[in-house]
Amino acid sequence: MKFNELGLKDNILSAISEMGYEAPTPIQQKAIPYLLENDSDLIGLASTGTGKTAAFGLPLINKIDSSSKNTQGLIICPTRELCIQIARDLDAYSSKLRDVKVTAVYGGTDISKQIRQIERGTQIIVATPGRLVDLINRKKVKLWEVETVVLDEADEMLNMGFKEDIDSILQQTPDHKNVWLFSATMSKEVARIAKNYMTEPFEITVGGKNETNKNIEHHYYVVNERDRYTALKGIIDFSPNIYGLIFCRTRRDTAAVADKLMANGYNAEPLHGDLSQAQRDRVMDKFRSKTLQILVATDVAARGIDVDDITHVIHYQLPEDVENYTHRSGRTARAGKKGTSIALINTRESRKIKSIERIINSDFQLKKVPSPDEICMIQLQNTVASITDTEIDTTRIEKYMPAILEQFEDVSKEDVLKKFLSVEFNKFLSYYENVKDVNAKSSKGGREEGFKSRRGGKSDSRDDENRQRFFVALGRKDGFNHGALLRLLLDNTGMNKGAIGKIDILEKFSFFDADKSETEKILSKMQTVDFEGQTMNIEKTKGGGDSDKGGRKTSSRRNSGGDRSSRDRGNSGNSGNRSRRRSYNN
Ligand code: AMP
Repeated sequence: MKFNELGLKDNILSAISEMGYEAPTPIQQKAIPYLLENDSDLIGLASTGTGKTAAFGLPLINKIDSSSKNTQGLIICPTRELCIQIARDLDAYSSKLRDVKVTAVYGGTDISKQIRQIERGTQIIVATPGRLVDLINRKKVKLWEVETVVLDEADEMLNMGFKEDIDSILQQTPDHKNVWLFSATMSKEVARIAKNYMTEPFEITVGGKNETNKNIEHHYYVVNERDRYTALKGIIDFSPNIYGLIFCRTRRDTAAVADKLMANGYNAEPLHGDLSQAQRDRVMDKFRSKTLQILVATDVAARGIDVDDITHVIHYQLPEDVENYTHRSGRTARAGKKGTSIALINTRESRKIKSIERIINSDFQLKKVPSPDEICMIQLQNTVASITDTEIDTTRIEKYMPAILEQFEDVSKEDVLKKFLSVEFNKFLSYYENVKDVNAKSSKGGREEGFKSRRGGKSDSRDDENRQRFFVALGRKDGFNHGALLRLLLDNTGMNKGAIGKIDILEKFSFFDADKSETEKILSKMQTVDFEGQTMNIEKTKGGGDSDKGGRKTSSRRNSGGDRSSRDRGNSGNSGNRSRRRSYNN
């Protein structure tokens, strides 16, 4: 099927052709003609990377009446990054139409500038929920001409505690509007939105329901907790051309893993909520332009990352909520490309793999961290390949050659090569000489036994030393729930979701874990906050964060070797290296 068969205006067709879109993706083929011909609600079950922005963006633009400057389309999405990206895409789709204006509004930035933009007239607003509610309350957004509300990544927005904001927005838009909802998964909460606000929605599923992209291979590696980082290094070293996104659960872990990778000479940087917006933008620009090879991120910071060509998503730790696996892994294999999603798990987490397999409706392959010999061989071959592929700039190098040849007069070709590779690899090889097999015995093996929590407790393997557990004097009987707690914490403390750990809502009271570094902020900022008129009375639980969990010390035995800093890994900002090399990805 071609784009010109879908019923779009010529100016839009010409704009998308300039963007390099040749043929519509499956979700675009299904959604665009339907939305152009019908005034109907729609549910699109599709993960990121399937082309869903154009699936709703193109018909939305096509329907805009540019003779009116009033807002006709609202797009609501979970994060600032995604908001900016969607607005940018819509601007591109409408670049050849006169008088169509798209405005992005999101939190964490000056609202008055956004108000001025809206007041100049905008037919489409792309917004994060909180900021939109704020603008509605200030009566800065005129909603009576809104014909279409798009909820993008609805499951993510609900996970992030935006349920009430979404309810409020939907209630304040005209009854006759259409709602187009996109979600990677059909959770109970998403179904509730559909039931309450949509009428006989047309349903489109790309792939199976709740299924991830077939172009992603899912691998998992079972390692002992103390070997997680060594295993990560092994996996990265075995894929010298990796362009990867590594997920950690907490900001601390994210910073720690990125620090270690940088110290070991990898071209890696962290992305998490402790960084300023300007720092985050800088890291993202580097990653997007492929100057940065490895990005280590928290779930929240990585939301809305839509970078093409990511080869590997590595779950350094599985997400707290297994449903998030789909969001993470969807960052690879975008736009029809292939990708690998790799989970590092400890011996107690196999059950989580089973649950994820059910959610994504596809199987994981159990992989072994390659042996030091295999890793070294791949690295050497990769370097040799890049040498072989390098073109010789004869004119520049010729004048130095006589002196160099003289120096090597008595050295055989084989020895020259050995010496050259030794300069590059000695440190690397000596590191791998000392690395033991880090693959843990599988579940029936004896080694797992010694790894059970000393308290026989939870199968949750968070980096518990860094967590503080809190008590909340509200429970299910008070109408309190997971989303409410999360939203109150995020709204009132300015914390990042990644800083919040396990939440347990019990009948009469609740508990949650949070990064220890946030303790004071939580205790001070939450003191005056109540939930529907009831005091939360947040307190630290006795015994600190590791009270009920087997503590774990990070191994510092191993030398910090594998240091690749002597080698050109692109840290110098030379982005050409990686793409020039031959691919040896597993
Ligand atoms: P999305 O799922 O909307 O985030 O899109 C994923 C990526 O695919 C983005 O980089 C889009 O620019 C790209 N894309 C979307 N539709 C097409 C298409 N029909 N042809 C080529 N690339 C596309």
